[in-house]
Amino acid sequence: MSKPPPNLANYDATRADFSWDRAREELAGMAGGCMNIAHEALDRHLQTANADRTAIRFLPRGREPAIDISYRELAARAGRFANVLASLGVGRGERVYVLAHRIPDLYAAALGTLRHGCVFTPLFSAFGPEPIRSRVEIGEPSVLITTERLYRRKVADWIADTPSIRHVLLIGEVDEAPDGTADAGALMDQADAEYDTQPMDPGELALLHFTSGTTGLPKGALHVHEAVVAHHITGKYALDLQPGDIYWCTADPGWVTGTSYGIIAPLTNGVTLIVDEEEFDAERWYRILQEQRVTVWYTAPTAIRMLMKYGPELARQHDLSALRFLASVGEPLNPEAVHWGRETIGLPFHDNWWQTETGGIMIANFASMPIRPGSMGRPVPGIEAAVARGTDDGIELIEDPEETGELVLKTGWPSMFRGYLNEEERYRKCFAGDWYLTGDLARRDADGYFWFIGRTDDVIKSSGHLIGPFEVESILMEHPAVAEAGVIGVPDEVAGETIKAFVALRPGHEPGEELRRELMALARKRLGASVAPRRIEFHDNLPRTRSGKIMRRLLRARELGLPEGDLSTLEGGKQ
Ligand code: ATP
Ligand code: MG
Repeated sequence: MSKPPPNLANYDATRADFSWDRAREELAGMAGGCMNIAHEALDRHLQTANADRTAIRFLPRGREPAIDISYRELAARAGRFANVLASLGVGRGERVYVLAHRIPDLYAAALGTLRHGCVFTPLFSAFGPEPIRSRVEIGEPSVLITTERLYRRKVADWIADTPSIRHVLLIGEVDEAPDGTADAGALMDQADAEYDTQPMDPGELALLHFTSGTTGLPKGALHVHEAVVAHHITGKYALDLQPGDIYWCTADPGWVTGTSYGIIAPLTNGVTLIVDEEEFDAERWYRILQEQRVTVWYTAPTAIRMLMKYGPELARQHDLSALRFLASVGEPLNPEAVHWGRETIGLPFHDNWWQTETGGIMIANFASMPIRPGSMGRPVPGIEAAVARGTDDGIELIEDPEETGELVLKTGWPSMFRGYLNEEERYRKCFAGDWYLTGDLARRDADGYFWFIGRTDDVIKSSGHLIGPFEVESILMEHPAVAEAGVIGVPDEVAGETIKAFVALRPGHEPGEELRRELMALARKRLGASVAPRRIEFHDNLPRTRSGKIMRRLLRARELGLPEGDLSTLEGGKQ
């Protein structure tokens, strides 16, 4: 089958022509200039042929058959949920936390919360009690939605100490609702499916997302209803979502990617969203791509690296020919992964960049543009990105394509965060004049492609050089024995810092002196002696956040014997 032309066929022309006002016109809006994310995701489809299209195809654990939920049905479930909130006296602007794994009720709860004008906050279901409790204490929700099992295991012990929560509603299967909780399903069954979605001011709060906590304690980023304009347009341009697409976003809705692109953008774009209840399993994932005829796949480097560990054979045993577009976000995508996609799946991964704070994709490799492996791509139409250096009274933009600086974005896009919860000073510090300071370092080449160097906190200063860990990690990953690498700076009296690499190997490879020497030689040859690691340590696994990112700050803390800080977001943390 021939590929349809991409939505964004001519980057320069679309960019020149773009305005956020025009992007807004692609959505329905509500009377009096009001908006509601859920209105764009659900209600507006009900008058169109999309109403009976499958909105969510849910794949239960094991090999049970898929469950299809149409746009009409999802809107009805969200309507029932909104009516339940109304009947409990939960008012507009109150916060509703949802702690659940990927089950259909989670989506009804999220969208029902938005329809009712409440602020939706997802919590990752694999968090242990502590990170859940601390996020509840910071955000003071009125309602907690969870499952019976999660409630008993992670919430029951401490909930009495959190006065803000007035209602705990249990979704999914409920055997027996413990005291102080109610079975949401039973309430929904009694509730009306019809609900008039609340018209919201475009600048009214809709979402509260906690960051990944890669560099420190997680921050609560606040987002508003008009963010949906950016979700929609980036879904269309950067992920190339088109009518009839079967789209799979592997991010959990507990994180911002799993909400912006795992709930909102696919629904506003009217495609079918695959939701898999299971966790990562290489064979299952290939089978889903094959059996569901997935056309657009949005995943993360950590997942791609895991697939790479299994080698190309497993991929080749599957028919992946329905795929049209592959994209990745969350961490730098090593060039090796882009090549691997091309060689084993027949398509490259398109890296894109954004943060919890930006609410949506800001920089992307678009379907119509040649990919530069290792580059995050070019700014989304409507987004002005630049590289800047700090000055005494603010920042100064850097024009020289060879120079590294902080990645900054011109303020004013609709999905920009409007605050960190209870941290106004910190929010203010993120801006210099009209520019939002991302805290990431980048370089822009002469053709306007952006290259990620590292986080400002992770960058290494060695003998007067500024070294981004990603560059060194990517070279190490070129070696066939290397599955993952994490690079940090270690204090050194002479050089300021020297580079140390932590390396995890692929199955079938053993650590040893010879391999260490080979890796050193590779790094020296490709990077030069001053940028090559001085030391390499082999590990079975690298520490990562719950969302899968390599935690260099932890590698550094361990190396230097410093306190490791809040480990609650760590993989393998308390359950
Ligand atoms: P915290 O802010 O709490 O330390 P975090 O920054 O990891 O955690 P997120 O908002 O989930 O929280 O992640 C955004 C960050 O992830 C970006 O600022 C960037 O450092 C990194 N990132 C995301 N996508 C990419 C990408 N394509 N290439 C490189 N880095 C990326
Ligand atoms: Mg961050």
